Amino acid sequence: MNNRYSRQELFPPIGKIGQEKISAKHVLIIGAGALGSAIAEALVRAGVGQLTIVDRDYVEWSNLQRQQLYTEDDAEKRQPKVIAAKKSLTEINSSVAIEAVIADASGVELEEWAKCVDLIMDATDNFETRMMINDVSQKYGVPWIYGACVGSYGISYTIIPEKTPCLSCLLATVPLGGLTCDTAGIISPAVNMVVSYQISEALKILVDDLDSLRNKLVSFDLWKNQFSAIKVDKLKKEDCPSCGKKRSFPYLSFENQTKTAVLCGRDSVQIRPSLPITRDLEALEIVLQNQGGTVQRNPYLLSFNVNPHRIVIFKDGRVLIHGTKDIPEAKALNHRYLG
Ligand SMILES: [Zn+2]
Repeated sequence: MNNRYSRQELFPPIGKIGQEKISAKHVLIIGAGALGSAIAEALVRAGVGQLTIVDRDYVEWSNLQRQQLYTEDDAEKRQPKVIAAKKSLTEINSSVAIEAVIADASGVELEEWAKCVDLIMDATDNFETRMMINDVSQKYGVPWIYGACVGSYGISYTIIPEKTPCLSCLLATVPLGGLTCDTAGIISPAVNMVVSYQISEALKILVDDLDSLRNKLVSFDLWKNQFSAIKVDKLKKEDCPSCGKKRSFPYLSFENQTKTAVLCGRDSVQIRPSLPITRDLEALEIVLQNQGGTVQRNPYLLSFNVNPHRIVIFKDGRVLIHGTKDIPEAKALNHRYLG
């Protein structure tokens, strides 16, 4: 065998035994944007055994400034992020079993994935999904690592079920930046800093070195030269709906999962079908071509330009309407072209 992990094995807290543990673990990454790309690359290089990576979006030119796994060719082809990510990751380390899932992580799916993974990495861009991750983490006893960034600011926190307060416990008392939608822009060092915190904690969890975990909520602003680490261990709430005595996992209830939403920091609305469907993109291409406008299709999605909007339809029935933040307008366009 080659010596690809020799430097990691020479690091005493990991060693050969730690490396064996890492290679036996399965990690779930929710999101394949800036955080997700960097997390996936780090874990694949570190030799994790199995990786499941989930994302609902495709590569755009505005992603290339910081989403390190993607190329101009991916943006040109509007390649789904997880498909492009799997290709890059496999070239980096072909021994890792990588599952790429094009989907908007719903509570039902998260519960299925949570049953078979050792760790969940948060690389999402929205509050709803983070709170669902928090609930499944508590329900199935799987640790998860929160990470978010915006501008030059970043934040991270590690949640170990039955040990630390969960994200829901912290909501009322701690300012959790990055939980809300923001269009302030972002610089890549903020991404890489958050990922460095997330991956360091991930490696400790994967080698079962829980005593070395940070146990603090860390946040920083690289442009303003600010850093803080808040001790939060006293903030665990007895009546927390996610980790308290009477748990109801409110974010997993079907009613709490929005079907139509304005996407974070983007002039776009996503419409999710209420029941699972599979769209025949080839047939749809012909229908849309007859309506005028330009149609572009790859095996995973179809993009339809009707100025000033662009409508992107995924195989799983999801529709993204670009060029609007107005939900009724988006629904009307969806109805007009897709019935
Ligand atoms: Zn809690």
